[in-house]
Amino acid sequence: MTRRHEPNELKKLLSKACDSVRNEVGVGKVASYIPALARVNPEKFGAAIITVDGETALYGDAQEAFSIQSISKVFSLTLALNKVGDHLWTRVGREPSGNAFNSIVQLEKERGIPRNPLVNAGALAVTDILLQGQSIESCKAQLRGFIHRVSGDPSIHFDEEVARSELETANRNASLAHFMKSFNNIEHSVEDVLQVYCHHCAISMSCEQLARSFLFLSQNGQDPLSREQIVSEQRARRINSIMMLCGHYDASGDFAFRVGLPGKSGVGGGIVVVVPDVATIAVWSPCLNSNGNSHAGSAALEAIARETQWNIL
Ligand code: GLU
Repeated sequence: MTRRHEPNELKKLLSKACDSVRNEVGVGKVASYIPALARVNPEKFGAAIITVDGETALYGDAQEAFSIQSISKVFSLTLALNKVGDHLWTRVGREPSGNAFNSIVQLEKERGIPRNPLVNAGALAVTDILLQGQSIESCKAQLRGFIHRVSGDPSIHFDEEVARSELETANRNASLAHFMKSFNNIEHSVEDVLQVYCHHCAISMSCEQLARSFLFLSQNGQDPLSREQIVSEQRARRINSIMMLCGHYDASGDFAFRVGLPGKSGVGGGIVVVVPDVATIAVWSPCLNSNGNSHAGSAALEAIARETQWNIL
């Protein structure tokens, strides 16, 4: 049974959990393979909980925007599923990869079909699907518009400096896309796919905005605050399943073991998790462990799940 908490109690539980992992902040390394990400202050630490009733609890730097990076893959997947439905699964698998997020090894054995939509290769194929029938600019506008819709916040934007920085250093992602193109699993030019991909990874959002924008996944695909049906109930369940199995790179099993909630992390140091029927939680701390997940963020989520007794298992 997942417990609900009174608003004041929720704030206290969040503070207690985050205070208990404060000394983990700064442990690990800030992502530096995208030069613009290396400039972030490693001491930042924020967390936000938003319940399906709209109660909000914030901690630390919860309202400061950061680069959401791979968390954006959940938005692009949701949009692509709404666009082409189950056809998407002919181009991307839905199995945990057990390999690094940017690995190329599995792609050769599996003939250009990425393991899942949350590794880089999978997200590049998803981006290619989003580009079908539209220009780069309208595709970017569609992604941004979707995020405005689910967050209720039209101020959210691409950080052009981060997008440029990633595009200039995107050799690994370009290789993945070219490799998939050799198996006919990328239709558009690799340059166009990378333009859109690097932009959606470069969306800037705060923990509070992220928690708000994932709420539809905690309530059967319907945004509990705006009452808008964003995806069908079945699709929301499937997206949550994929996050549970594949949301944290090759440490997805470890994350499920420690936190027990479906979620997605990004190399900007953010992680969002969904507590079905109850709430969403977003955390941010830029220093990453060796798998690319926020070190203090993972510890904070483990502590929050323990304090709130929120767990789907
Ligand atoms: N834009 C990053 C990349 O493609 C995303 C990585 C991540 O957050 O996992 O390498």
